[in-house]
Amino acid sequence: MAKNSKAGKKLAKKAEKAAKTAAKKSPKKFLITVAVILILALVAGAFWYFFVYKKEKKEGGTVVSGELTVRFLELGNGNAGDCVLIKTGDTEVLIDAGSKRGSAQTLVPAIKEYCTDGVLEYVIATHAHEDHIAAFVGNSGSDGIFANFQCKTIIDYAKKNTSSKISQDYERLRDEEVSTTEGAAHYTALQCWNNADGAQRSYELAEGISFEILYQKFYENSSSDENNYSVCTLFTQGENHFLFTGDLEKEGEESLVQSNDLPHVKLFKAGHHGSKTSSNDVLLSKITPEIVCVCCCAGSYEYTEIEENTFPTQAMIDRVAKYTKNIYVTTLATGIDKANKKTSGFTSMNGTITVTSSAEGVVTVHGNANDTVLKDTEWFKENRTWPAGGQ
Ligand SMILES: [Zn+2]
Repeated sequence: MAKNSKAGKKLAKKAEKAAKTAAKKSPKKFLITVAVILILALVAGAFWYFFVYKKEKKEGGTVVSGELTVRFLELGNGNAGDCVLIKTGDTEVLIDAGSKRGSAQTLVPAIKEYCTDGVLEYVIATHAHEDHIAAFVGNSGSDGIFANFQCKTIIDYAKKNTSSKISQDYERLRDEEVSTTEGAAHYTALQCWNNADGAQRSYELAEGISFEILYQKFYENSSSDENNYSVCTLFTQGENHFLFTGDLEKEGEESLVQSNDLPHVKLFKAGHHGSKTSSNDVLLSKITPEIVCVCCCAGSYEYTEIEENTFPTQAMIDRVAKYTKNIYVTTLATGIDKANKKTSGFTSMNGTITVTSSAEGVVTVHGNANDTVLKDTEWFKENRTWPAGGQ
């Protein structure tokens, strides 16, 4: 640009000189020269605007400082639950810490492997169910997430129905963490949405990488279903988007779609562990996900004895299949006894799933057990069907 403006100045000086000479010689020639100068100035201006200024602005807007990784962590047991660690550089965001208090024994070392400075810059608790918050607490009071990491900004559900012992303990420890940690803050999703009391609707993690708290009406309205209070977040890295909706159910998904201009997403964490009541068409048709990760123990009878409704459900698979075959699942039940509706243990399905988006925006998926997509697994072939017309 410096070169261009130098050339422009030279041009202008030359034109000024020519105009002075022309004015002395003849007024007609003078007018023609002025017109030529004006046209030249207009062309030069347009050239600068379209090819220099606009190009620089566009490039400036999409600068991404580095890669973004999203890890769906295994929880050390055969229970459904969420724990998602999102990282760029030395900045981490942890969404939830399920599924049981004992999961902390698996999660704390797993998080320490990636969060080497001991600081979780942002911690989000989507809703007050055990399978999302128990490992924040841990079993002994010294082994939970809050006791092992400095949590700087904690973003919570705005409403809750439950007053279980775990949610009371979670809230006590969270408040202790905030009061004893220098610079720590605690906000609800609603405060974030309203940019109130120091909370922000959007947080920048690095250049070109940010996350925002999306609005849905159950931050303010009551629901008989705790899941509908789930805090929803959209992460953006350059042109790529990643959506997390906790255990949000259909009514919440409808509100989410109505309240936000949702983009196409590279990654969607399947709502509510792949339940038939979440990941509905109303949401999927907006976000048209390329990759769907499910945090559950496939085939477990934890919540139902109806085969097709065990996580990940046939209904969720039927809906997601319209958009992608790239479905991944963390954990798998073992010793599935269909006659007695029992399982004997658990193993990894994909294991801890890592979705990496490079600085250039190329997205890859890797499971620490294997990279097999759900529809190609043995469990799927025995227990589920891929719908006709699916991807
Ligand atoms: Zn859950």
